[in-house]
This record gives sequence, C-alpha cells and structure tokens, in this order.
Amino acid sequence: SFPAEAVPQAPEDPLFGLMRAYKADSSPDKVDLGIGAYRDDTAKPWVLPVVKKADEILRNDPEANHEYLPIAGLAALTSKAAELLLGKSAPAITEKRSASVQTISGTGAVHLGALFLARFYKTQGVNRTVYVSNPTWANHHQIFTNVGLPIATYPYFSKETKGLDFEGMKSTLEQAPDGSIVLLHACAHNPTGVDPTPEQWRELAALLKAKKHFPFFDTAYQGFASGDLDRDAGAIRLFVEQGFELVIAQSFAKNFGLYGQRAGCFHYVASPAADAAETTTRVASQLAILQRSEISNPPIYGARIASIVLNDPALFAEWQENLRTMSGRIIDMRKKLRAKLEELQTPGQWNHITDQIGMFSFTGLSEPQVLKLRSDYHIYMTKNGRISMAGLNSRNVDYVAAAVDKVVR
Ligand code: PLP
Repeated sequence: SFPAEAVPQAPEDPLFGLMRAYKADSSPDKVDLGIGAYRDDTAKPWVLPVVKKADEILRNDPEANHEYLPIAGLAALTSKAAELLLGKSAPAITEKRSASVQTISGTGAVHLGALFLARFYKTQGVNRTVYVSNPTWANHHQIFTNVGLPIATYPYFSKETKGLDFEGMKSTLEQAPDGSIVLLHACAHNPTGVDPTPEQWRELAALLKAKKHFPFFDTAYQGFASGDLDRDAGAIRLFVEQGFELVIAQSFAKNFGLYGQRAGCFHYVASPAADAAETTTRVASQLAILQRSEISNPPIYGARIASIVLNDPALFAEWQENLRTMSGRIIDMRKKLRAKLEELQTPGQWNHITDQIGMFSFTGLSEPQVLKLRSDYHIYMTKNGRISMAGLNSRNVDYVAAAVDKVVR
C-alpha cells in the first residue's frame, strides 16, 4: 500500500517563502526586491496599456467563447511567436523547419522541451546530460531532474568581476562530452543579469558547433531586457542562422505582463537539410502527443491577448512602446542605485549594477549582509544577493542604497 506517512516534508520554495515574509512585515519602509515581476514607479503591478486594449477587444468580441484550443494551441499566437524570435521571413520559417506549440508559459515550455528530449534525444547513446549555468533559474534543476535527464553545470558568474566567467564557461563546455545539451539564457540571464557580448555569443556558437552540443534556449525577457525585441533575440537568431538544430522555451509573462495567464510557446528548429520539413512534421506530431497527456491543450485567455497584439501593427507598435517604458525604468533604476552607492563611497566596485541587464542584478552581497538588510532595514532579497530591479523606484532607491552602504561597511 501507499505509505503516505513516509512522505517527507518538502522544503518551501525559497522565493515564495520570501514573498510571505515580506507580506507579513508591517514596516512602512519595507522593500520587495525578491519577486521577479515588474512594478511601476509606485511599486504596483503594471497592466500594460496595450494589454488593456487587447482585453477590451477580446471582451467585446461576440465570437469569443471558452472552447478548447487545439492541442498545439492558438495558431495565430504560435506563428507570430516564432516570427518574434526568428525574424519575420526567417528561412527556418519559410522552409517549414520550425514547429511551435503553445505551452503553460515559460515553465511549461522548458518542461515540454525537457520531456521531449528525455524521450527522444540520443535514446541509444549514453550522453544526455543537460549543462546549465552556475547559477541558473532554480527551476531548471527541478524540471530537468523531474524528467530523468542528468544535470551538470558550467561556470558562468565571476565573483571577482561580477560579470561573465567566459573562460570557465568555455573550458567546461569544451570538456563536456560531445553532443551534450546546453541550456542558454537568450538574454537577461536570471539570476545574474550577466549576458555574453555579441562577440562572445559568436565564440560560443563556434564552440557548440565544434562539440556538436545541442542548444536549448530559454527566453523569458525578450524586449524586456534592452527594450528592443530584435536585439534581445540576437543570440537565438545567430545560432539559427548558423544552422543549429535547437529548441527554444519562450515566455510571455514578463514582456506582456501576463504572468498569471501562463502564455508561452515551445519551438523546435531543424537544421537546413533536404528532409528538414519532414523531420519537423514528425517532431511536431510527437510534441502533440506529449502535450495531450500533460495538459491536453493550453489556456486560452492570455494567448488571445498576446495574439491580438502580435497580429495588429498598431497594437504591436504600442507594445514596443510599453516594453521601452519597462526596460527604460529598470535601466534608470540601475543608474540611480549605482550613482547613489558611488556618492556614498560604499566600499567596492558598483559598475556591475549598470553593466548587468534585465530584471535582476547579482549584487555580490553576502548571505549575512542579505539577512541584515532584511532584519534591520525591511529590505527583502534572495539569499544569493540577487535583487529584482523592478522593486526599486524613485521613492525607495536612496533608502536601499543607504542600507546597502551600512551593511557593507
Ligand atoms: N526561464 C527563466 C530564466 C525565467 O526567469 C522564468 C521566470 O522567472 C521562466 C523561465 C518562466 O517563467 P513563466 O513560467 O512564468 O513564464
């Protein structure tokens, strides 16, 4: 029989535990730098104006209903989602060697990709290890482990420079067995905020190609990082142009502010070859079977909202404007935080605050310093010293800088 008494207590998800502690804190000074969701300058969640418009259109649509989507999701979304990543008339699309499936946001896309690889990647071979950056989004470890794929890490963050440990990364990927799966954050690396430069991406592409590694891109911040959708897709497009066979997990949580709607896509791209389109069709058929047994079909509401925006040129332009608002505010907060720390002559270098990009910054603060910020200043961040830049605003940035200054001294 099932010995339920023997099931051990699982640890609480650290991020959600942090969120609870923040909520329970009654101090008027409290600052939430933990959660990875955008906040406006008044610390409030921001419904993108373009999303409000799309929502209005959707609610006034007499044809709208709550029927099931097809197994692969809303075609009007998945086709535009692929264009967004690969470029409008990318050969991978026109040659029909990309397959796209709507998923439960980025998490579901990573999971579907992991499940697909666990089932089909080198089933006869021995090497199925997934190399993830150290550190990476914590969920990567659980998702790949859950489907039985072994995990290894490659160095990524240099504690000295608080930038990329490029040599360490290359040397581990060089030594990894040929044909390993390599998980890469397309832009705005979570949790470090550190991305390879375009030149470093080219070197990585050459290395992965020489080693026959399989790229698995995770893109959760396209347009949210730099404010430019094309620029934030640069690494993915480079790899696709170089003819890699690869997969991509895409989230619309951050760039549309559709967190709870769970809109996202998984994409498979085949290398250019005479039979690439047939291969892609077969892959799509297997993805559909996996999807059917996992979720049957994906959620409809957020997918429709994203699809309305992506398919309407005027709304698309407005979305780009909204993306510039979010990324611009975050870049501005990076500048203000760094300037204040430098003004206070806080010990250490703070250039990494503005060198890093996207939602997060790896500050270099130690665990005791993080805990002191929490207990003495009501400032909440994860123990690894990661801060969500979106939690900073013009009201609290000086307070946070002053508190950091105190705990660092
Ligand atoms: N991948 C990375 C690197 C992320 O940072 C996130 C969100 O924090 C996700 C994937 C997936 O998020 P969601 O499932 O909300 O789209």
